[in-house]
Amino acid sequence: MSRIASVLLPMPLPEAFDYAEPEGMGLQVGDQVAAPLGPRTLRGVVTGLRDAGGGNRPLKPLEARLEDPPLPPGTLEFVQWAARYAVDAPGQPLAIALRGARAPKARPVKQVVATGSAPARLTPAREKVMAALHGFVGAPADLARQAEVSAGVIKGLIDEGVLEVRQIPAPVAFPAPDLTLPRAPLNPSQAAAAGALTAMIGEQGFQVALLDGVTGSGKTEVYLEAVAAVLAADPTAQVLVLLPEIALTQAVLTRFSERFGAMPAEWHSGVAPPARRRVWEAVATGACPIVVGARSALFLPFTNLKLIVVDEEHDTSFKQEEGFIYQARDLAVVRGKMEAAAVVLASATPSLESLRNAETGRYRWLRLTDRHGVAVLPQIDLIDLRGTPLETGRWLSGPLVEAVGETLARGEQALLFLNRRGYAPLVLCRACGERLTAPDTDSWLVEHRYTGRLVCHLTGFSMAKPKACPHCGAIDSLVSVGPGVERVEEEARALFPEARVAVFSSDTVFDAQAARRLVESMAAGEIDILVATQAAAKGHNFPNLTLVGVVDADLGLRGGDLRAAERTYQLLAQATGRAGRHDRPGRALVQTYAPDHAVMQALAAQDRDAFVAAEMAERELAGLPPFGRLGAVIVSSENPQALEAFVRDMAAAAPNAEGLEVYGPADAPLSLVRGRRRKRFLVRADRTVDLSAYLAAWRARVKPPGSVRVVIDVDPYSFL
Ligand code: ADP
Repeated sequence: MSRIASVLLPMPLPEAFDYAEPEGMGLQVGDQVAAPLGPRTLRGVVTGLRDAGGGNRPLKPLEARLEDPPLPPGTLEFVQWAARYAVDAPGQPLAIALRGARAPKARPVKQVVATGSAPARLTPAREKVMAALHGFVGAPADLARQAEVSAGVIKGLIDEGVLEVRQIPAPVAFPAPDLTLPRAPLNPSQAAAAGALTAMIGEQGFQVALLDGVTGSGKTEVYLEAVAAVLAADPTAQVLVLLPEIALTQAVLTRFSERFGAMPAEWHSGVAPPARRRVWEAVATGACPIVVGARSALFLPFTNLKLIVVDEEHDTSFKQEEGFIYQARDLAVVRGKMEAAAVVLASATPSLESLRNAETGRYRWLRLTDRHGVAVLPQIDLIDLRGTPLETGRWLSGPLVEAVGETLARGEQALLFLNRRGYAPLVLCRACGERLTAPDTDSWLVEHRYTGRLVCHLTGFSMAKPKACPHCGAIDSLVSVGPGVERVEEEARALFPEARVAVFSSDTVFDAQAARRLVESMAAGEIDILVATQAAAKGHNFPNLTLVGVVDADLGLRGGDLRAAERTYQLLAQATGRAGRHDRPGRALVQTYAPDHAVMQALAAQDRDAFVAAEMAERELAGLPPFGRLGAVIVSSENPQALEAFVRDMAAAAPNAEGLEVYGPADAPLSLVRGRRRKRFLVRADRTVDLSAYLAAWRARVKPPGSVRVVIDVDPYSFL
């Protein structure tokens, strides 16, 4: 009997479509197929097969079964679960899962081999080539280099039929890690944590550990042991390490290759399509034991995933805010459960969510309270900018400048941390008071001096800095207000003309290579003062860095979203934690106008636990995460009347439910983005409520007109 195949397409469609399976195609669930949709042919994945009963309307037949590896059942199940959780179409996470499958394969590589026939005439150069051929694998140019002869010599031998060039498929498999290489002995607390992880892995099945260790305590070494234990127990096991930043990926890749003698697979947006395709295929065929990557690596087609490590688990970059909206740390735990894998969450400043799970015993809590070796945590002092005012146009206070001077005099390095890109966050007209914004978005334009442009960091819109105020036309009236990293760099250069100053932000470091170069040059002591945004503040190890100056500690506290205090604490603890990670003691100076704020007090006293306890108590009282759930519904339209009418309908359609409140609609803080007006609802629910099901039911009750877009964000991190 003929069969019907349900096929999920990587598009925002509500469900899988049915197709007829052509005779003899022999499909199985998970297979990738070419499916017609209107005039197009799309790559899809078979999610179900059933016998066709008679009498149905005829279905379109599938065009082909693709030769690519199938999506493993675990990956398919995960994709569907993630969509349900995020209240989004399953084709959205599927598109992420197929990103590598759709990328083009690497072109075949040239390989030169001996044909067996001897050269008619032997010259010294030819003798060198014949000697170099033994055990050689590579292209003609490589052979020329190895034999130290010109390309012409090789070409002559090819023309004569002594050598032959073959095209072989580019390799897919990744080298196996060497588990026998020696490693540095662990200190006693590392050994205890590694022992606990190894025991947990030995028990097999799903378990989560929170590896909670102060900055510089050697968490990476500990989880490398867990990786080794997993691979020793099962040579076909797969390990996934998730990191929040491409810059950090580079450092961790190096640590892995030193420990295991082989580079793991790398996965993030900066990886070229053929390399991405290779990783995807190698993971799907079990030829890739270790993947180090960014959040979307979670959707790779693992066949035997045994361990997931989420490093810097508190980092908000794990939350994907556009397209398919998800929190990779939380989904990593879900995927671990589905795959019966162990999960390790590592951080010096864990999220309140993870700490709560550790407190209640759902996660194992492994603490490292001291830095490795002789390194000690830095001394942290607050600089009260109310009592120590900044000079006009300056952003570094007297005590901080003095400390930088002393640090440089000792031949050590300083980091000036300011989490703001560009030169100035605001451009203001002195004549009319106008604050410059992008034409279609109500966020301020940020001045960038390197490029001479005003940039909207939200949408990427940019324009040359105008001579006249676009509002009142006054000439030369525009002034730059406030500092960004470029302005701090300018000040540092003026104050310390002899010093080598560099900036680390996403404007100066575009890709993985550039990040690696800058980190290496800082680690090698080729930079004296590094001015950096959060891109450089996390995870890195700079041995000679002994002073961290926080230029504006209060920055993250403004705006007051749910996690503002938590996030500010985490960021500042990470940034100040870069100081003194080796034998020389470190110091951090934190400039603030709010020295009495709980975050600043906890930072100065190095008392994370007290801060966490106070923050937890507040959240519990309000029923906010991790004690309750939140969901946001953002409704936007270019047409204000349609938007108004629709949010009114939507408010009226909200289902009643126990243990749940709906707030709004209210204007979103960013009420205009790319020409669209935005309104939002916020839903708070008790932990026992299935918030995703509630939001799905709500959305199903009202159909937005074409001009209105509804986006659901379960567990929002951004409240803009
Ligand atoms: P964390 O991730 O906890 O901030 P790292 O794992 O980066 O810390 O370790 C901090 C520094 O200490 C690194 O330079 C690392 O190489 C070193 N280190 C950690 N553990 C050991 C060890 N057992 N032996 C030698 N060096 C270690």
